[in-house]
Amino acid sequence: MKLMDGKKLSARVKDDVKRQAADLKQTPCLAVVLVGSDPASKLYVEMKEAACKEAGMRARNVKLAETIGEDELIQAIEKLNADDGVHGILVQLPLPKQIAEEKILEAIDPAKDVDGLHPLNAGKLAAGQPVFIPCTPKGIMRLLEEYGVKLEGKHAVVVGRSVLLGKPVAALLLNGNATVTICHSKTKNLDEITKQADVLVAAVGRPKLIGAEMVKDGAVVIDAGTNRLPDGALCGDVDFEAVKDKASLITPVPGGVGPMTIAMLLENTLLAFKNQTLGKEKRRC
Ligand code: NAP
Repeated sequence: MKLMDGKKLSARVKDDVKRQAADLKQTPCLAVVLVGSDPASKLYVEMKEAACKEAGMRARNVKLAETIGEDELIQAIEKLNADDGVHGILVQLPLPKQIAEEKILEAIDPAKDVDGLHPLNAGKLAAGQPVFIPCTPKGIMRLLEEYGVKLEGKHAVVVGRSVLLGKPVAALLLNGNATVTICHSKTKNLDEITKQADVLVAAVGRPKLIGAEMVKDGAVVIDAGTNRLPDGALCGDVDFEAVKDKASLITPVPGGVGPMTIAMLLENTLLAFKNQTLGKEKRRC
């Protein structure tokens, strides 16, 4: 078994973004919209803002009240869309119950949609066109590339079908010529399907759902799950200790997929900046 080290790779990506940002005449700016005061969302937003600053980019913090209405939130996003000083927009999810998330995501200018969740970007991804790729799926693909995993002709099984994670990662694996199976909560005989996977991606949110008996010998195992246990420890969707000796490559939690997400957000923000301000020939990421 070999570990796929997301911490090391993300540090390299961040350094590269920082180097590229330092060469620019203007500073890329990411607007991070936080609605309400959920402690986990607040922490994620702070981490994203800190990462932007470390990479030499600006982060504009837009804090809005928990009680905000849908129209008011859409107006705030439209203001950011129209602001030439803002190159990327990220709305921290989940949003309070009174707000329909899909309406808010649709309000973001697709050219500033660094999370890749606007339906236009999701559709382009499904069509295999160049697009902003959602950060966690993009980070997963970068890890596979870094560790030399060839996808062509492989059976990839994705457990989870969220718009944020399962569906885009499945589309990317398919675009990479893998044969893809998507599983979800209604899937019957999950273990019989996961056991066929050459590449297994767990994107569920259930601690240690994937045990050793569900994994083929030599499989590449990507664990996107981030679950908080009662003792406060972080745990993935894969039973790491049980699975590690069967897998040829495996991501740890923490230190695998997680750190890649923020690195990809920085890369997408830089790409959004370049798309908006430079000629196509100068784009690099
Ligand atoms: P989500 O929206 O809750 O989706 C979970 C998916 O898992 C759904 O498609 C659900 O099926 C499926 N599922 C639930 N129970 C299942 C079971 N017993 N067997 C098979 N499938 C099952 O979650 P998400 O946003 O995709 O996130 C998934 C995990 O990734 C979470 O732990 C989250 O914290 C983590 N995550 C990590 C990062 C990162 O940066 N590392 C980023 C995003 C998310 P249905 O569709 O049928 O309900």
